[in-house]
Amino acid sequence: MPKLNENYLNVQDSYLFAEIARRVSAYEESHPDKAGDIIRLGIGDVTRPLTKRAIEGLHRAVDEQTTAETFKGYGPEQGYAFVREAVADYYRRNGVEVDADDVFISDGAKSDTGNITELFAQDNVILVPDPVYPVYVDTNTMDGKKIVYMNGTEENDFLPMPDDRVKADIIYLCSPNNPTGACYNKEQLKKWVDYALKNDAVILFDSAYEAFVSEPELPRSIYAIEGAKKCAIEFCSLSKTAGFTGTRFSYTIVPKELTFAVSDGRRMSLHDMWNRRQSTKFNGTPYIIQYAAAQVLTEEGMEECMENISYYMENARVIAETLRRKNIPFTGGVNSPYIWFKCPDGMESWELFDHLLEKIQVVGTPGAGFGVNGKYHFRLTSFGTHEKTKEAMKRFEQLF
Ligand SMILES: *Cc1c(COP(=O)(O)O)cnc(C)c1O
Repeated sequence: MPKLNENYLNVQDSYLFAEIARRVSAYEESHPDKAGDIIRLGIGDVTRPLTKRAIEGLHRAVDEQTTAETFKGYGPEQGYAFVREAVADYYRRNGVEVDADDVFISDGAKSDTGNITELFAQDNVILVPDPVYPVYVDTNTMDGKKIVYMNGTEENDFLPMPDDRVKADIIYLCSPNNPTGACYNKEQLKKWVDYALKNDAVILFDSAYEAFVSEPELPRSIYAIEGAKKCAIEFCSLSKTAGFTGTRFSYTIVPKELTFAVSDGRRMSLHDMWNRRQSTKFNGTPYIIQYAAAQVLTEEGMEECMENISYYMENARVIAETLRRKNIPFTGGVNSPYIWFKCPDGMESWELFDHLLEKIQVVGTPGAGFGVNGKYHFRLTSFGTHEKTKEAMKRFEQLF
């Protein structure tokens, strides 16, 4: 009989979106006349189609597969050099130098943030913010690793800062943040980098929403901070940037500078370990996708992506403006597609969920689903259409 990984018993059921779906269909059944009015502002997925360059790239790469001369079989597990260079170029245009050789191409920031746990032993102090993207918590729990939470609250604008009383080994940061939309500035990130260097810790930095940063002084990469290459791995993805949530392309930067002492006094390199891990367990992202991604990562390709991002950010602006008029405190919406607001009238997040569904047929995401610090907060996303977002906020304005 196999002995099972009983750590899975400790992983909480991911009931958030299932519970939302259950409450929405119950409402639709009991109010068939209102079912058509429902507006969904809870979606964490993009809705705009792929850009012209992405589509052209996909077509061209497919056609290459028709002749033996241009057909592609197995590629390098780390990704083709041309796309690793395209990622490094993209960073360079945003003012950050990364070595193309430190870029690992993958099929998702979700897979990589989850798989990275394999490089670390069981007995680490792992700091995770709350509220949080559930992947960091669940993957460590599946590994039997213990998590120490740091609180994101209104007091710290949902941007937890290092606490010198806690000696962490591994720190998860996500900026701009899902779900709170909050974004660290350079001084704040520098404090984290300094803390990590002082404590010989590693930062796992999720920058999946970097392309949504609109204020030029805010960092879009942790490597905009001096010293970060000695203490940080960065995860990024074309999912939100280029609408690749279904197409699948991501990149993880593991700098060669990242070495740590091990029990026998030698130093191990996280770059070499990740390379070994990926070469052993991963056979690469499809060539067709890598080819299209390289087109997206060009200057012209990114300009097209920015048109879609601007479309979303116009929705964010409409939501933020409504909340501001109603004096409802919120974070996000400026450098992020997410708006995270305090539930009005002292309501709890599930209470507000039901209230919005019943009174104005608007569906959002209760903050409680992202951690205990989300109990009185609520997430709206800007991934809807202009028309629906405006209509939802008009109803919201009449309700409160
Ligand atoms: C959407 C998202 C990602 C991207 O995941 P992919 O697997 O690349 O689609 C990563 N981190 C966060 C916090 C996200 O919300």
